[in-house]
Amino acid sequence: MGKDLDKVLLTQEQIAARLDELAEQIDADYVGREVLLVGVLRGAVMVMADLSRRLHTPLEMDWMAVSSYGSGTRSSGVVRILKDLDTDVHGRDVLIVEDIIDSGLTLSWLVSNLRGRGTASVEIATLLRKPDAAKVEVDVRYVGFDIPPEFVVGYGLDYAEKYRNLPFVGTLAPHVYGG
Ligand code: 5GP
Ligand code: MG
Ligand code: MG
Repeated sequence: MGKDLDKVLLTQEQIAARLDELAEQIDADYVGREVLLVGVLRGAVMVMADLSRRLHTPLEMDWMAVSSYGSGTRSSGVVRILKDLDTDVHGRDVLIVEDIIDSGLTLSWLVSNLRGRGTASVEIATLLRKPDAAKVEVDVRYVGFDIPPEFVVGYGLDYAEKYRNLPFVGTLAPHVYGG
């Protein structure tokens, strides 16, 4: 597996330190409220586990799985729900937990979908954000790291379902893609 990696972009320590900061910010913002963390499967599993354990705000966790149809590698913003929430979000303060925002199209769809259910509020926390996300009208309150437009794996993020278990975020060597 070591040979498959090109470079480490974010170390375990860097991720942990940034999550400490985000958790502090979230706790400060949600004082006196209870938050419903909505993790987007499957990439957000690690962020959800590590962020939620840093929060003191009373919280519940639920999960959604969505698939976005796209041509090639770009997502189109046309989204299908593969697994819906088990929780009724009416009147709830929802915080969507994401691994990465690339085009932002999936997330912008998700935000409108949840708002349509009568939520009290919907905010977004993402570990990573790529530059293209700026092109879409989606207001992301909590961002771990702004990264270059490279394909990354690890810490929940996969390439063909592999590498999710890496404790850091890195880029893959070209030979992995068949290059
Ligand atoms: P978008 O923001 O373009 O609608 O879609 C974001 C989704 O695309 C993420 O949740 C993730 O599944 C996938 N994605 C985008 N960029 C990367 C990347 O660099 N690495 C990996 N592994 N997945 C990515
Ligand atoms: Mg994701
Ligand atoms: Mg993936």
